[in-house]
Amino acid sequence: MKLPPLRYVAPRTVEEACALLDADEDAKIIAGGQSLMPLLAMRLAMPSTLVDLGRAPDLGRIEEAGEYLRIGAMTTHERVITSPLVRDRLPLLVDAGRNIAHVQIRSRGTIGGSIAHGDNAGEWPLALLTLGGSVEVQSVRGRRLIPAEELFLGPYMTSIQSDEVLTHVWLPTRTSGWSFHEAARRAGDYGLALVGVCLDLAAGTCTAATLVVGAAAGTVQRVTAAEDAIVGSEVDARAARSAGEAAAASLSFISDIHGTREYRAHLVAGLVERAVVEAGGRR
Ligand code: FAD
Repeated sequence: MKLPPLRYVAPRTVEEACALLDADEDAKIIAGGQSLMPLLAMRLAMPSTLVDLGRAPDLGRIEEAGEYLRIGAMTTHERVITSPLVRDRLPLLVDAGRNIAHVQIRSRGTIGGSIAHGDNAGEWPLALLTLGGSVEVQSVRGRRLIPAEELFLGPYMTSIQSDEVLTHVWLPTRTSGWSFHEAARRAGDYGLALVGVCLDLAAGTCTAATLVVGAAAGTVQRVTAAEDAIVGSEVDARAARSAGEAAAASLSFISDIHGTREYRAHLVAGLVERAVVEAGGRR
């Protein structure tokens, strides 16, 4: 299908992009276009203007900044997962990102686009929330940091305002106590259930846990009941099973042609159990 009639602008700076979004509330950013182009073709999005971020420099870098990795919003999925810096400092991103679609899509789609899109089945939203990261956004009003916990409001809904450009993703580096697991019908498909886990451990006992489930429930979300089942315990098979059972019991699972509510609950219980055991073993 053809795109609806619209204006196309490719600003050279983020400031110019912000001014364009400020001047026209129906303008929309296009990054890799891997989610937006199908929406335009199906008339599910009909912006007046497409503001292409592809020519704004400096949004495609991956840098170490103290205890964080700062990833430019226009960095493609493929560049994230093949980056030696990411592999060394944040291996969870490599495990998660290689589940995103196929190489053609990973080579155009961007980390900023995926997070701004806010798909509850997206690997980057889940990774951001699991790692306790933030996004930096800019508008004519200035810059602000949005913590992941305040970002994802519901399916395809984020707290990024329509005049704001997501410029960078900030992620605390982590090489221990992490795990990511996903169940999909075929390699490259969107997952039916995604699980991310980060555990802080002291002499085998879990002192803090972040456990996030995506795709299986309406919003990518932390599962506090499962976290509570592990904190204060030794991370062993019994604690992992309890966490899986708590996650399955506490979430409102979705049901569709790809899997029933019960099936997703079963998947999540198994993935959580596996992820907790793996995270506990990564010291
Ligand atoms: P675009 O499509 O250009 O934009 C998406 C939305 O984000 C738009 O609303 C746009 O206005 C907004 N936006 C983009 N960048 C910014 C920014 N910097 N600041 C503010 N707003 C912005 N994704 C997965 O996570 N897992 C999968 O398994 C998966 N499978 C896929 C399979 C297929 C066949 C296709 C076509 C896509 C798949 N995707 C999957 C989606 C893919 O990851 C997209 O790349 C991603 O969702 C959006 O990134 P993008 O750069 O393409 O953004």
